[in-house]
Amino acid sequence: MRIYRDKNRTGLTQVTCNRCGRQLKVEKGVLKEGCFSADTVFGYFSGKDGTRHRFDLCESCYDALLAEFRVPVEESEERELC
Ligand SMILES: [Zn+2]
Repeated sequence: MRIYRDKNRTGLTQVTCNRCGRQLKVEKGVLKEGCFSADTVFGYFSGKDGTRHRFDLCESCYDALLAEFRVPVEESEERELC
């Protein structure tokens, strides 16, 4: 879950892991640790028609989620990091 200074989602002030509730490190509007962010809108053929879900996971909760996967994630090296 992310909290911003204004309604346009600018000026990040807080990021909380939706799974464990830990607050992640944010300095001057910049997230300073690993985080998985999901933002999806469910379409017509889902049971959540038109509903948007957003959530954030700290890196250890992300690892715990992946440990439950039967098929591993696709992994590759990226040269440009944000
Ligand atoms: Zn967590």
